[in-house]
Amino acid sequence: MKLGRNARFSTICLHAGQEPDPSTGAIITPIYQTSTYVQEELGRHKGYEYARTQNPTREALEANLAAIEGGRGGIAFASGMAAINAIASLLESGDHVVMSDNVYGGTYRLFDKVLSRYRLSFTSVDTGDLDQVARAITPATRMLFVETPSNPVMRLTDLRAAADLAHHRGLRLVVDNTFASPCLQRPIEFGADLVTHSTTKYLNGHSDSVGGVVIATRDDDIEWLKFVQNAAGAILSPFDSWLVLRGTKTLPVRMAQHSANGMALAQFLASHPKVRHVYYPGLPSHPQYELACRQMRGFGGMLAFETGSLEAAARVLKSVRLMALAESLGGVETLISHPATMTHASVPADHRRELGISDGLVRISAGIEDIADLQEDLAQALDKV
Ligand code: PLP
Repeated sequence: MKLGRNARFSTICLHAGQEPDPSTGAIITPIYQTSTYVQEELGRHKGYEYARTQNPTREALEANLAAIEGGRGGIAFASGMAAINAIASLLESGDHVVMSDNVYGGTYRLFDKVLSRYRLSFTSVDTGDLDQVARAITPATRMLFVETPSNPVMRLTDLRAAADLAHHRGLRLVVDNTFASPCLQRPIEFGADLVTHSTTKYLNGHSDSVGGVVIATRDDDIEWLKFVQNAAGAILSPFDSWLVLRGTKTLPVRMAQHSANGMALAQFLASHPKVRHVYYPGLPSHPQYELACRQMRGFGGMLAFETGSLEAAARVLKSVRLMALAESLGGVETLISHPATMTHASVPADHRRELGISDGLVRISAGIEDIADLQEDLAQALDKV
């Protein structure tokens, strides 16, 4: 099972970071469910001393995810938020961050309510417009933090242009690549310095684990993030590491189906008389469709649509039978949600409106069910509006 230097994406997903288990030859990396390791004698051990610091299952996952994203090192954390918090620890008191104005609400909350107490400041702008980014940069700015496509209105940021601007001004470009997955978008190829994921979503893909990862390109960042992983201790458990490793083996086949279903639902909704607008980067009507074609290899399973009112949205959400009303995304089963009262409830109402998150907006995370069943379900739900 030697991975050639020119191995293709699906092969990397399946094999990178994983050698047959040295003690038995097991093809699947075991769950090393241990807290400590026996040492042969004082000062002599096999490279493993204590499981917060080193764990073979987690290390296999970290190597796998680094290879999938095309980075030099991966560092896995207990959640997507723990991973973003570790990225923030690259900053020092007094530093400033420019970030996308519709990042995941938890990311906004972390900066606004927690990191601001440590004299870290941030400015939110539409990173889809790089003039706004350039204007927001101050002498204290150290990082540009981008989420593309954004949640839930699928606004894109031009990754290559963002990397060029960031590097020209001496900033690190950080990309939260959770929505696209590395199967559809590889930010490091466009110049990103750090990529983060909530592995809870597409990377694990089966709605049965919470986790996060940072993929880094610079040796000094890798060293610091590993140090913080051990020092702060928000590690991904061996079992969760194993689940995500299993998930990445099927990432390309799952993403192909998520993308096919996402596109079919977007087209269906775009031609439905009761739907006012569809947000999906794969539709030629999307204002950044050309950019999506340039930097994404597929358009994914996330989409949102405008029903016109809270009542209409509530009726759709109450009437679906197969789609599950739930937060989160990226699992094999289709989820439907109401951003204004669920994922984005903590965003002030006037700011929500500015971002296009109206009371009538409905978000779908398209799963991998048969598309005919999904369409029938949405059609009968929209009939009730
Ligand atoms: N980033 C994005 C884009 C997300 O959607 C989420 C969670 O929904 C997170 C980060 C945080 O991840 P977690 O819930 O695993 O902490």
